[in-house]
Amino acid sequence: MSAKIIDGKMISQEIKNNIAKSVKQRVAEAKRRPGLAVVLVGANPASQIYVGSKVKACEEVDFFSSLYDLPESTTEAELLAKIDELNQDDKIDGILIQLPLPARIDNATILERIHPAKDVDGFHPYNIGSLCQRKPKLRPCTPRGIMTLLEKSKIDIKGMHAVVVGASNIVGRPMSLELLLAGCTTTVTHRHTTNLRQHVETADLLIVAVGNPGIILSEWIKPGAIVIDVGINRVNDKIVGDVEFATAQQRAGWITPVPGGVGPMTVATLMQNTLQACEQYYDINNQALIR
Ligand code: NAD
Repeated sequence: MSAKIIDGKMISQEIKNNIAKSVKQRVAEAKRRPGLAVVLVGANPASQIYVGSKVKACEEVDFFSSLYDLPESTTEAELLAKIDELNQDDKIDGILIQLPLPARIDNATILERIHPAKDVDGFHPYNIGSLCQRKPKLRPCTPRGIMTLLEKSKIDIKGMHAVVVGASNIVGRPMSLELLLAGCTTTVTHRHTTNLRQHVETADLLIVAVGNPGIILSEWIKPGAIVIDVGINRVNDKIVGDVEFATAQQRAGWITPVPGGVGPMTVATLMQNTLQACEQYYDINNQALIR
């Protein structure tokens, strides 16, 4: 068997094309373009690449964007003041703080300062809580992007046993909430899980988000399973996922490649969330929620 490839590059392009059409329509109706503020603190090379791809995506869909490239020495108080300013800025619908932040800055304090209506990364406790209570609002980008990949591939996951490997705040945990909401029976595994293999072997839908190439042996994959590889690892100057693609492809029914699977969906979903924030909060509430 050779798995069907879930082409994230193609699906993300389709999403961005649709967003660009919506922006064109807004401009034709004399509405303003959605705006995204991207805030980077320090000079982490990987973060610089991610931030660059987000700003580029804004250009592709014709959003207004502003990049704040703050020095490593930025204090927590200075970053909070920048967020307060952006919360009040009418041109800005979404605020993205690129993670990781320098260790001396408390992530939670920063992320909770973003107004939930502008929290296009979906990490604010209000947005996570809403997802948890089956009333999704702004949803974390990577898990939402994965749900879009499954929908666009017309894979009906209701009733499936989904196994999520990794339980971080940004991928594994919100992913498990999305899967519950979609009607999966969901197992979440993490660094303290014993016998990972036993769980993986029973997965109809396997989502791996650890950051450890080779953590999943292909022989563990249930024949015909759907395999979503979130991992991004640099090995011998090549980008690979957490699953060994060539051998996993021989067992799975569907599989995402790395690169070209989940990665481009995360950025496209950020654009979707920014448009959503603009339409839901700015247009409908006429700024009332923001102030
Ligand atoms: P993280 O380090 O915050 O979390 C890793 C998780 O893996 C933890 O919950 C940990 O408990 C779990 N884990 C560690 N060892 C394990 C084991 N032996 N068995 C089961 N679980 C184990 O990482 P993250 O931010 O969630 O990112 C995970 C990977 O996904 C990284 O490679 C990251 O680069 C990638 N990523 C990709 C995208 C994308 O758009 N494609 C987005 C975010 C993260």
